[in-house]
Amino acid sequence: MSDRVFGFVGLGNMGGPMSGRLLASGLDLTVFDLRADSVAAAVANGATAAASLAEIGDRADVVFLSLPSPEAVRAVAIGPGGLAEGGRVKVVVDLSTTGPRVEEEVARALEARGKTLVDCPVSGGVAGAKAGTLAVMAAGDAAILAELAPTLGVLGKVFSVGARPGQGQTMKLINNLMSTAALTIASETMVLGVKAGLDPDLMIEVLNAGTGGNSATANKIPKFVLPRTFDFGFAIGLSSKDARLCVEEGDRLGVPMIVGNAVRTLLNITRDHLGPDADMTSVIKVVEEWAGVEVRGRAAKS
Ligand code: NAD
Repeated sequence: MSDRVFGFVGLGNMGGPMSGRLLASGLDLTVFDLRADSVAAAVANGATAAASLAEIGDRADVVFLSLPSPEAVRAVAIGPGGLAEGGRVKVVVDLSTTGPRVEEEVARALEARGKTLVDCPVSGGVAGAKAGTLAVMAAGDAAILAELAPTLGVLGKVFSVGARPGQGQTMKLINNLMSTAALTIASETMVLGVKAGLDPDLMIEVLNAGTGGNSATANKIPKFVLPRTFDFGFAIGLSSKDARLCVEEGDRLGVPMIVGNAVRTLLNITRDHLGPDADMTSVIKVVEEWAGVEVRGRAAKS
């Protein structure tokens, strides 16, 4: 892949640091984003700015996407003036969380033009994107995945989860629903504990030593809730989009999603109450408001 030219579309919370790592690894990257400030930051790191998607499609062999919604991925990859119209691009690697249905649709449309989609969502948050420790869930053509493996390895640990685009998305939606289930139940129970007079820092220590510990008690609550910074870096609007995609997949496959729907409801309430750009860790603020107490740790008090 060393002679290949690469492109990157979507330089946000995740795409910014992921493209930064690819640039630092020596890749020649042409980038595009609707936000001029994000493009300028990538150019400062050595990227070349493209004026349009068409320009990337004509310049790069392989194009990475890190976009906020299924609609954005559809428009960028196969919409009018999108990458699929580019003469050079052969492979599109979608690092976004879009859900399997759009991924299947985009894969079919690209295939009709002799191009290939690699379905490749990631997990591990902004910190993982910066550190190159993401879980990379790749699904697609085995030969292309093998060729891309060293490049994807710059982003984190690569798992080949299937041969069919859409299977990476399913894996990712499952991961995210598990993660938000942990966050929502941890938020409710932390508020309950504080209202009952327990110390929140001590609660986290006990939970992490006991069987109640999960990804929220290990990371999100102690690092972003107890200090009251709420800057984990994943917007609640994106999080509720992921929960919607997962319960829709349950509907499509005839799998009951009773707990998943409850998790989705609390995420939606938070999104509608605090706005889609609020950090996902703000889910606890809604529970706090109802209960009339705040989960404030030592770090916030000092
Ligand atoms: P973000 O909103 O910070 O970034 C998205 C970027 O895409 C923005 O810079 C935006 O300007 C750009 N964009 C939107 N539409 C575009 C278009 N038509 N053409 C070009 N650029 C366009 O979102 P994010 O947090 O970086 O998430 C990106 C994707 O990664 C989402 O699908 C999200 O679900 C997924 N994800 C996020 C995290 C996280 O912790 N933030 C973790 C894993 C996966």
